[in-house]
Amino acid sequence: MQVFNTLTKRKEEFIPLNPPIVTMYMCGPTVYDYFHIGNARSFIMSDVIRRYLEYKNFNVKFVMNLTDVEDKIIKKANEQNTSAQSVSEFYANAFFEDINKLRIKKANEYPKATAHIEDMIELIKELEQKGIAYNIDGDVYYDITKFNEYGKLSGKKIDELEAGSRVEISELKRNPLDFALWKKAKEGEPSWDSPWGKGRPGWHIECSAMSTKHLGDTIDIHAGGNDLIFPHHENEIAQSEGAKGKQFVRYWIHFGFLNIQNEKMSKSLGNFFNARDILKLYSVDAIRFFFCQTHYRGPLNFSEELLEASEKGVEKIKNFLLRINEEIDNVNSNETVNPFDINKYVIEFENSMDDDFNTPKALAVIFELIKDANKLLDNNHLNKQSILEIKEFLKKSLDDVFGIISFDEMKANVKSIEDDLIKLILDLRDELKKEKNYNLADKIRNSLNDLGIIVQDSKTGTTYKKKF
Ligand SMILES: [Zn+2]
Repeated sequence: MQVFNTLTKRKEEFIPLNPPIVTMYMCGPTVYDYFHIGNARSFIMSDVIRRYLEYKNFNVKFVMNLTDVEDKIIKKANEQNTSAQSVSEFYANAFFEDINKLRIKKANEYPKATAHIEDMIELIKELEQKGIAYNIDGDVYYDITKFNEYGKLSGKKIDELEAGSRVEISELKRNPLDFALWKKAKEGEPSWDSPWGKGRPGWHIECSAMSTKHLGDTIDIHAGGNDLIFPHHENEIAQSEGAKGKQFVRYWIHFGFLNIQNEKMSKSLGNFFNARDILKLYSVDAIRFFFCQTHYRGPLNFSEELLEASEKGVEKIKNFLLRINEEIDNVNSNETVNPFDINKYVIEFENSMDDDFNTPKALAVIFELIKDANKLLDNNHLNKQSILEIKEFLKKSLDDVFGIISFDEMKANVKSIEDDLIKLILDLRDELKKEKNYNLADKIRNSLNDLGIIVQDSKTGTTYKKKF
């Protein structure tokens, strides 16, 4: 399996540290607002990658943090005249609601920054002892000149960065690129006790401390949006490798940008969409289909037309699934005129996904399968065994890996229509009984019985049971 590693800027053979375990850390949301559709792309594609690793029988330990103390949260709390805690709790709940609707599998852990302050303090102390961190009157900074490899992830050169940055007069740090590990408490902000006095952690130290705590010093995969490469992930490397002297992450995976109608999404342009709003307009099936149609690293343009097209794509898949469900009992079980080779499609699907999770190519394989199978069904050339194999493969690919179609939901839908139809027939049968047309009423009861539906008449009305 080949994975593109942002650190080396090329595809590499994927070899986890302790197979079959794969440790995977994903930068989670800062819970000060609903997450937007660009975040949804990162969350969904990291979910697809995790699901595919599980398909390949890896045992994935997936951790996603929640940043619940940060400037934006404090700002919102002050605006709304409430506490930072109540803001972060409200949006953390909204986050869980939304990812559940988007069929994103639960992580093994969702560590919260405020529950790991001690771990962050310990890590900062380690950096201070090694002379990498320095304290100026209660503010603690990371001295980037003490980490030779600073810039290795983003490919940025320190001198160029320095030339382009300015130091705020209020900041007393040694180098403009030094970043805050611990921020001295300000009036009206949440704060914790520390060896440097009251304060709160910087954003970058949160991920270093929490990933180490839950997944160990070296993790297999660290994922996040492209926009996090610099400075966030660059700083995470500096902190973790500076403190532990070990490789922090084996494979860095980054998700591409999302534009809206070819423009950058921004609140000021009025083209800013929350995942929550999009879920009101389109099915989760179509949203996941839409994201899987583009490679996770590439840029993606979000438009109504593309979402509509995704709904159509999903409909095509569902129609095919309904068709094979229907035909499974009708086909000639011995028909082998054109034996169907499911392995051909399975291998192509896996080859595509093994090539840096090429979901658009893997989806194309599925559509090819649907086209070929439909043709064979039209000519009655597909036997029962083949249909069962197709169904099993589509369950694994479309449901287990992509999460585009939920077979359980489809089954439940078909079932509820079935129940509605039985009720309709029984209502009509009641009418017949009222008209004393007992012959026809009995005929309906017997026919339903033949289908495995037992009708029971009593004084209070008619009920039914299904035979197994
Ligand atoms: Zn992070």
